[in-house]
Amino acid sequence: MNQITASIITIGDELLIGQTIDTNSAFIGQELNKMGVWVKRRVAVGDLWDDIWQALDEESQHSDIIIITGGLGPTADDITKPLLCKYFGGKLVVNEDVLNHVKYLFEKVYRRPGPILERNLKQAEVPDVCTVLHNARGSAPGMWFEKQIVTHAKDNIAGTMPNRIFVSLPGVPHEMKGLVEKEVIPRLKAHFETLPVILHKTMLTAGTGESMLAEHIREWEERLPTFLKLAYLPHYGMVRLRITGTGDERQALETELSEQFSKLKVLVREWLVVDDDLSLQEAIAALLRERNKTVATTESCTGGFIAHLLSRDAGSSRTFKGSIVSYDNQVKTDLLGVSEEVLKEHGAVSEQTVRQMVVGGLQKLKTDFVIATSGIMGPDGGTEQKPVGMVWIAVGNAEKIKSHVFNFRFERNRNIEQTAIAALDMLRKFIVTNS
Ligand code: AMP
Ligand code: MG
Repeated sequence: MNQITASIITIGDELLIGQTIDTNSAFIGQELNKMGVWVKRRVAVGDLWDDIWQALDEESQHSDIIIITGGLGPTADDITKPLLCKYFGGKLVVNEDVLNHVKYLFEKVYRRPGPILERNLKQAEVPDVCTVLHNARGSAPGMWFEKQIVTHAKDNIAGTMPNRIFVSLPGVPHEMKGLVEKEVIPRLKAHFETLPVILHKTMLTAGTGESMLAEHIREWEERLPTFLKLAYLPHYGMVRLRITGTGDERQALETELSEQFSKLKVLVREWLVVDDDLSLQEAIAALLRERNKTVATTESCTGGFIAHLLSRDAGSSRTFKGSIVSYDNQVKTDLLGVSEEVLKEHGAVSEQTVRQMVVGGLQKLKTDFVIATSGIMGPDGGTEQKPVGMVWIAVGNAEKIKSHVFNFRFERNRNIEQTAIAALDMLRKFIVTNS
């Protein structure tokens, strides 16, 4: 199979010190993958001449396509453009189209008073050895270079001269995205006439760890054909299972992938949340929509985090109604009707309290289902009977309430996230069995 590979080089000191999270690579990786390009490597380098140069040399040894983002701004710290000019042996020349676009942006769109600064006009200068890619969303254009390189790769005949494509894009994510969609992908498709097909199918499981899952499906996994690969993507008590297939023939690949995916679904049915690449809350929203039901939360220790998850996706208002964050006992009593006797006798972190929080929530928020949480998230506040990480969760409707105690014992943030996932998984099971 004729595999086309890509490397992504992101440039900027801010990426290395963790000030900016590299979201560009994730986007570019997805887009390339969709069109059948195998993303082989990702590299981040600072705004340093030698480091960028070396990254270009190195990545062109590995990949057919090298996508570079960042370092194209009008300030002195951004050096990508002069560097690329030198690297590809060109000189900077003013491109009239880009110049007109920069003038249009500053005069008509940004409407900045006064003459356009020299440093902004300079954005219209591009190496004379590149194809300019129009950036509709900003002043720094994209640049497309092609170069024959000598490879040292073991599997290549020494001295072969494959043609490499280098594409330089601005770092600003929405500018980069526009360029990738409008310019880069169509050009790559035209350049590589036949690309392999890459397909993925993903399911979400909860309630068991990746090692247990791996043991459970070992025989099936061992017998997978080599063009299908299984990935385990664990996250806080959930494991996403993704099968990726690569081939030349879409139809045949789709058939085989679907068959294996169905087999896997049967094997993991006990833990299967949803047979799609959805989050737990998206899967719950789908269940609620199908049944025309709604949910609300009454949260103590999670402080509204579950409500945040349930309201995160577009269209949430159809299934999520609201929340009472009853962090303090007074609020539990005043707004949810949790009795003072229960609080005194059993404490806020107790089965009785969370069950009363569900009842209060159903009355006040008038939804079909309510989730309630109360626990000790740490680092302080634990006792021998009620250690840090102990959480009571209750889920209920007008007929029935289910409650369960968990002992997470992680640090605070993780306890909160883990509680939210446990609560959502309890809700999911409750919906499936009780409506
Ligand atoms: P630059 O093209 O280097 O001037 O980048 C402009 C801005 O884009 C930076 O200040 C960052 O906030 C953002 N940026 C650059 N690279 C990335 C990246 N890989 N992922 C997300 N944002 C980025
Ligand atoms: Mg920069």
